[in-house]
Amino acid sequence: MIPTRIKKLCTGCDLCEKVCPVINSSILSDKTVSAFNVRTNDLSALAKSSSGGAFYELSRYVINKGGVVFGVKFNGTHVEHSYAETLEEIELFMGSKYVQSEIGDTFQKAKSFLKGGRWVLFSGTPCQIAGLKHFLDRDYKNLLAVDLICHGVPSPGIWEKYISRLKKKLEATDVKDIRFRRKGKDGNPFTNFFFGLSYLKENQWHVYEESRADNLFFAYFTRHLFRPSCYECPYRNIYTPEADITIGDAIADSQYSEQNEMPSTIIVRSNLGREVVESIKTNFRVFEPLDIDAVNAYYQNEKTNTDYERDIRPWRLSNLIGMRLPLDYYKWVWKHDKFHIVIKRKIKKLCRRNIK
Ligand SMILES: Cc1cc2nc3c(=O)[nH]c(=O)nc-3n(C[C@H](O)[C@H](O)[C@H](O)COP(=O)(O)OP(=O)(O)OC[C@H]3O[C@@H](n4cnc5c(N)ncnc54)[C@H](O)[C@@H]3O)c2cc1C
Repeated sequence: MIPTRIKKLCTGCDLCEKVCPVINSSILSDKTVSAFNVRTNDLSALAKSSSGGAFYELSRYVINKGGVVFGVKFNGTHVEHSYAETLEEIELFMGSKYVQSEIGDTFQKAKSFLKGGRWVLFSGTPCQIAGLKHFLDRDYKNLLAVDLICHGVPSPGIWEKYISRLKKKLEATDVKDIRFRRKGKDGNPFTNFFFGLSYLKENQWHVYEESRADNLFFAYFTRHLFRPSCYECPYRNIYTPEADITIGDAIADSQYSEQNEMPSTIIVRSNLGREVVESIKTNFRVFEPLDIDAVNAYYQNEKTNTDYERDIRPWRLSNLIGMRLPLDYYKWVWKHDKFHIVIKRKIKKLCRRNIK
């Protein structure tokens, strides 16, 4: 789905087409790409990371060089890009937020740091990194671009609806410390993972936790929440040229699952990426080379969403029959995979009620 011009506002400079990462996407000519499973030595960082702490180690490298790291954090319940200059500030970026982030003015800020000669690590989804590279419109030797193995980003609108509903259910006046992938209950940094947050009720902070299987947002995450553009993503490929390094979960490798000691997979795509990974290699307790074809196959096929019309059917139907967003109801349907049967029953019931 390519964005269209608003004729009224267009000055005819064609810059949008020149920098559009979708129109101008390309494939690496030099395919010397390699991949590794890695897990950091730093147990405290591991506990806060989604998988093996690859992002933390890459950030540490850049911060130690006096650089700046751009990543995604919560501002209240809002998910947005920001930048950090210390290791403490990096903590806010650690952990995946499964919601599309607001980029704000971070591209402009990154450009000004780059022009000033500082090292910049910019992390984000592959389309965000492609957007940054086209915005910058020239190569900077001091830019380390890090993207994610990404199967799509959920809608911020639905996230806001979900979180306000949860607040209501918990009778919470405020929430903080939201984590999509909180690790083991006793802080065990090796086990994955459940959804959790702290909430304020009657002037006291409480903790709310739910396993991935029980969490409503996760129930939809792998299928019903993505942006339409994610279905036509040209970046679900390890041979696109924008990122120096890609990080993801090590589930391309069958010995790891989401539940056990999962390292990160890092895919190294450029000379700069190779230099950086070589120099931080000793910070990883696990550092295992991977078969690149297997990683590429995983990235392109695993969890691929191909049918937007099918996936948004629940939302269309709920609008059509004028029901309030029936989140729990669809969760049940999703679990039992009998969506059409339940909907038919619901419609029949509604018709009967109207006839009476
Ligand atoms: C929307 C989304 C979908 C993903 N889908 C997959 C998948 O299908 N398969 C897979 O193997 N891995 C996927 N990942 C990546 C995975 O969740 C971990 O981020 C990855 O394993 C790296 O973990 P880590 O321990 O190195 O870093 P962490 O400490 O978890 O680092 C988090 C990094 O993710 C960035 N980030 C967090 N939230 C967002 C966001 N909303 N938008 C952009 N960047 C963000 C941060 O800036 C930081 O760079 C996805 C991540 C996101 C955000």
